[in-house]
Amino acid sequence: PSSSAAAAPTTGIAPSLDAFWMPFTPNRKFKQSPRLIVGGEGLHYDLADGRRVLDAIAGLWCVNAGHRNPRISAAMKAQIDVLDYASNFQIGHPAAFELAQRLARFAPEGMNHVFFTNSGSESVDTALKIALAYHRARGDAGRYRLIGRERAYHGVGFGGISVGGIGRQRSTFGPLLNGVDHLPHTHDLVRNAFSRGEPEHGIDKADALEALLALHDASTVAAVIVEPVAGSTGVLPPPRGYLKRLREICDRHGVLLIFDEVITGFGRLGANFAADLFGVTPDIITAAKGLTNGAVPMGAVLMRDAIHDAFMQGSVGAIELSHGYTYSGHPLACAAAMATLDAYTEDGLIAQAAALSPFFEDAIHGLRGLPGVIDIRNTGLLGGIELQAWADGPGTHAQAVAQQCVELGVLVRSVGDTIALSPPLTIGREHIEQIVDALRTAIAQTA
Ligand code: PLP
Repeated sequence: PSSSAAAAPTTGIAPSLDAFWMPFTPNRKFKQSPRLIVGGEGLHYDLADGRRVLDAIAGLWCVNAGHRNPRISAAMKAQIDVLDYASNFQIGHPAAFELAQRLARFAPEGMNHVFFTNSGSESVDTALKIALAYHRARGDAGRYRLIGRERAYHGVGFGGISVGGIGRQRSTFGPLLNGVDHLPHTHDLVRNAFSRGEPEHGIDKADALEALLALHDASTVAAVIVEPVAGSTGVLPPPRGYLKRLREICDRHGVLLIFDEVITGFGRLGANFAADLFGVTPDIITAAKGLTNGAVPMGAVLMRDAIHDAFMQGSVGAIELSHGYTYSGHPLACAAAMATLDAYTEDGLIAQAAALSPFFEDAIHGLRGLPGVIDIRNTGLLGGIELQAWADGPGTHAQAVAQQCVELGVLVRSVGDTIALSPPLTIGREHIEQIVDALRTAIAQTA
């Protein structure tokens, strides 16, 4: 390592790729033909081979305000020169309080309290723990069950994979949490293919919650967690009325409703949160990703006042919640998040995303009729194009299309056999056209 403070960042390919065990990656395959990103600005990434690609996935559904957003970069640089780190365990620093207050204003009405984490996975596990501890604080410790949903992705903590619904992410890791059950997923190609926005059919899938509550005895259930629009399983918008129905059932039985908004929060759907877009307020929201525009890790759990207050008024002990992370509310992340909120609100990015959503919807639905395209789904600036699985196994078709798109200058993501689109909110019409053109060509070339 260089001792020079002014040393340039490493931009070349490392001599050996062997030491780094890459997350969620076929390591052996990747290292045979690595693809490295060495820079980014606005809507684009620079690849190590000198090419520039349009980032149609916002990094990993997180860079909503564009790469190296000047506001965010400046705020982070300034913060580094003032305070590098301070704990929030029994001492604190002002930026964490200020950010929490600003997030409370940004969140749906009545959700005025925030717990900080460093990732979506930590937000999910934190939310589940708060839900369990909340019932206990109210003298209702018999509520210990958690309900997730098939196909859900809630990160990789043991809580998250327990309520998650993607088989191969669970089956490797033993018995997981006790007392977890799952709602059916809402994907229904037969009834809903090529829906725009919320599909027409599937509110009945919410009624499955009544059945699960009856099966387990509702008084043993602590919380239900869902992604308002499921992301990593293939972009599945909720059927019309579905989230409202879940809310009603939860209310009837004293069960908390958690929305995992790690992807859907911070303007992705053209609203602050999915809760705002769909007009359904959960008890707890989990967030991360777009919170800091991906510039530095941070997550947050936002909750209704009644949940927070149950701890503050209860006899739960001096430390109301025995939970937290060394980096909960890290100063650098707080600075990044506040500048990110400025970008979303003062620069009007969320309104811009809302205004552009109908164009995005029309553009991606223009791919209907191409060979192998079996469904197209969208909400806000989130889109999914589902392809017919090839005979050699699930996922290979979408991987081939995604690979080809990079050759054509556009970075998309394959999730199963769906191509996911989640561009920065700063995108323009011409860039949406570029994405759709690349997809049209890639789908034709791989057919
Ligand atoms: N929850 C949802 C809905 C997600 O989409 C993700 C990541 O994609 C997570 C949780 C996990 O977030 P992280 O990778 O930051 O732990």
